[in-house]
Amino acid sequence: MRDLSGRLELCAMNTATLGYQAPIADTIDAIAAAGYGAITPWRRELEEVPVETVARQIRDAGLAVAGYCRSTYIPAATREQFLANIDDNRRAIDQAAVLGAASFVMVVGSLPEGSKDLADARTQLAEGTAMMLDHARAAGVRLSLEPLHPMYAGDRSCLCTVEQALDLCEAIEPEPGPAPDLGICVDVYHCWWDAKLKDQIARAGAQRRIFGFHVCDWLVPTRDLLLDRGMMGDGVIDIPTIRGWVEDAGYDGAVEVEIFSAENWWQRPIGEILDVSAGRLQTVC
Ligand code: ZN
Repeated sequence: MRDLSGRLELCAMNTATLGYQAPIADTIDAIAAAGYGAITPWRRELEEVPVETVARQIRDAGLAVAGYCRSTYIPAATREQFLANIDDNRRAIDQAAVLGAASFVMVVGSLPEGSKDLADARTQLAEGTAMMLDHARAAGVRLSLEPLHPMYAGDRSCLCTVEQALDLCEAIEPEPGPAPDLGICVDVYHCWWDAKLKDQIARAGAQRRIFGFHVCDWLVPTRDLLLDRGMMGDGVIDIPTIRGWVEDAGYDGAVEVEIFSAENWWQRPIGEILDVSAGRLQTVC
């Protein structure tokens, strides 16, 4: 496993961690000034600024783009809406290409409103991902499926485990060769509890399908299912062990901080969030 101490250039900051307090231009400068090697921006931050402008500023700041967040949910109540979702994702993939993102992060969605048909949501996910993959290959962008904790299976993600994500990768891209275009993102918040995690990370590594690694912590108690993630070291996740599995599996990309924390960290100044994250990356991750 890599030694992160004094090596913040191996780490990425997901801009959501900073609570969208500043325009993307200021966010880029702050992350670069704090010494991080990479950034993962969100689509909502690029609504007012041309993607080319943001891409140039990130490059000029010396930052890599670890990922681009995130996909529009795929499953829909109608075929028309499903196709619109895929089109929306194709446009985002084009932006990811301009940014030079290491991957486009896919949070896949789940049951459309009024539906109880989880199997159908997963069928739509498989079809939609295959459609997106053709476009992503042409654009030179890798797709990174991020399985979410099963507590989000009702709305945010019908993809709940690393195993399930890899099954989907193998179904859609059965013979990827040495450089797959479809892979996964391992976020400790979503998969730390999984008894199969170690084996599935090894399986992903053998296929070279680990495209991202996200860190934060699981607080006990967790007061909000979405917006109460902890700073690394403040919860119960054994982050070094999981990072060891991921890096032993061949992952050499960024260790990315991604914390949604509406009532705690998002209330603090950006500089403090960046500094504390930097310290924890080097001491407890
Ligand atoms: Zn994540």
